[in-house]
Amino acid sequence: MNSPVWQRIPSHLGDVGGLTIRRALPTAARRTIGAWCFLDHAGPAQLAPEAGMRVGPHPHTGLQTFSWLIEGQVLHRDSLGSEQLLRPGEVNLMTAGRGIAHSEESQSARLHLAQLWIALPEAQRFCAPAFEHFATLPRLPLGGFGATLLVGELLGQRSPVPSHSPLLGVDLHCLAPAEATLALRPDFEYGVMVLEGDVRVDQHEPLGIGELLYLAPGADAMQLRASAGCRLLLLGGAPFDEPLLLWWNFVGREPEEIRQFAADWNAEATLFGAVQGFDGPRLKAPPVPALRKPA
Ligand code: MN
Repeated sequence: MNSPVWQRIPSHLGDVGGLTIRRALPTAARRTIGAWCFLDHAGPAQLAPEAGMRVGPHPHTGLQTFSWLIEGQVLHRDSLGSEQLLRPGEVNLMTAGRGIAHSEESQSARLHLAQLWIALPEAQRFCAPAFEHFATLPRLPLGGFGATLLVGELLGQRSPVPSHSPLLGVDLHCLAPAEATLALRPDFEYGVMVLEGDVRVDQHEPLGIGELLYLAPGADAMQLRASAGCRLLLLGGAPFDEPLLLWWNFVGREPEEIRQFAADWNAEATLFGAVQGFDGPRLKAPPVPALRKPA
């Protein structure tokens, strides 16, 4: 195997609905970790009055959005009629399948969240859209960390959040300096994404906020040594071997398909449905640039 054993990936900054976010994936160096194909981290931030995050109705295809809230409140509305307040410790999982539209708005003065996308495999990517809210997730001690099992299996426990490919997501948090050794699946690749504080993974230099450490398949354990107040996400999965094309809010396979999604959305095709109750305009897909078919 030619892939590196590990790869250190700095996040780049972006803007989502008026909020600055750090985006760890995708980058030129790495597109996916398992089916995780888009990793955004916002906050912790104090929001100015009347500011905050407001993302008007916009579409998605071929993916699941996975929203993990650490601080604050976010209101989700979608074209299935779902209206769900997301609170700390909760997950919203929206399955776009063949097409859905949603809006998101913060409803708190502080905000800290991770929004991650999961690519749907070929067999599910045109499935019916769906939305699920998970108010309670398994929590367990892991060395000196408190772990929340977001998706997948850990130490004999299984998250209620379903997945369509072998996947792991764990939030690890410590108030005091903490250490843990985690057993890994050698068939999985992994990423450590720091949300607060810093952590040393095995022998690597400490990793801080806005940095992702990628570990290729083959490892059977990982040692973490974290500073007080550290929070990180451990993400993993079986390498996703389908060629993915991500553009704007769409996940597809071919440039022509993406152009059609954008045209359908801008033409207000019934495919995506309509979001009710959001006070503001729907977002328009920008002109689609020349896209290359993924290798
Ligand atoms: Mn969205």
